[in-house]
Amino acid sequence: TTPNLLDIEGLEVRFHGERTVHAINGLDLTLKPGEVMTILGESGSGKSVTLKALLKLLPEKRTAMSGAMRVDGIDVMALTGRALSDYRGKTVSMIFQEPALALDPVYTIGDQIAEAVIRHERVSKREAMDRALDMLKRVRIPSPESRLKNYPHEMSGGMRQRAMIALALACKPDLLLADEPTTALDATVQIQVLLLLRELQKEFGMGIIFVTHDIGVAVEISDRIAVMYAGNIVEEGSVAEIIKDPRHPYTKGLLEANLHDADPSETLTSIPGSPPPLDVKPDHCSFAPRCAYAEARCFKALPPVLKPGPGRRVACILEEGRAPVMTPAREPE
Ligand code: SF4
Ligand code: MG
Repeated sequence: TTPNLLDIEGLEVRFHGERTVHAINGLDLTLKPGEVMTILGESGSGKSVTLKALLKLLPEKRTAMSGAMRVDGIDVMALTGRALSDYRGKTVSMIFQEPALALDPVYTIGDQIAEAVIRHERVSKREAMDRALDMLKRVRIPSPESRLKNYPHEMSGGMRQRAMIALALACKPDLLLADEPTTALDATVQIQVLLLLRELQKEFGMGIIFVTHDIGVAVEISDRIAVMYAGNIVEEGSVAEIIKDPRHPYTKGLLEANLHDADPSETLTSIPGSPPPLDVKPDHCSFAPRCAYAEARCFKALPPVLKPGPGRRVACILEEGRAPVMTPAREPE
């Protein structure tokens, strides 16, 4: 068996402020090299926090993290200083919904990509510029030679998105994190960018974790889907398994809502009720208040995690007796 590209075990993330927010509650996630995984969930479910934790981008003073994260065998929790800046961009890099978070308005696209290459590799400015040009070609930006000299504001939204992808991939990371990168684009451009990411994934062989609230996007881009709710994964499987045979009531609700709802941004909110407040650590099934199948015990203990098949898991009592147990139901601590 090939070693995993990514191993997250028991990740917990809490934010301290006036109130404590339990953003991630014991998350386990693995990714094989070259796999594309979508984390699907509504806003506030912890998708973006998971990505930021992987790059150690969370505000250090307010954040408490525990558990283990390894990428390519690197212990992410232990990274600091030079090792951390080597890791960012070279081992793992990230693209965002808003390219302004990644692109600097005062430098040309060419300079920014070349600068990133020089930071990670011993190459001359000339070689780094050649790489920048090559990257703009690979992301299929028209007239790449002249685009090298463009500032971000001189490009359209779709072009900026491509330039951001070129920057993120310039140092050939093993893992690309994508936080709703196509959400702000119109439908046609969105599909073009998703297809481009798929092609680049094959070309570079990198793993991708894509986070979105849009099931259509998840189906388009990924091999596997992990459904996230209240800071943990409630179900995981291949795209076909999740779409054709959803097992968790939350996943079923999402798909049901998606069928009846034309506006994808509405889909995740059309399940009656709302996600739980995250100011206490969950000690029972977080979905219980919204779940049509809830029993008394769902309000008393965390549900068991069951494994209906390879690479498949469901955190729900309804799966009991149908599948082997990965983690038994846990009484509150
Ligand atoms: Fe519903 Fe209980 Fe399953 Fe939670 S564990 S999803 S409340 S049936
Ligand atoms: Mg988000």
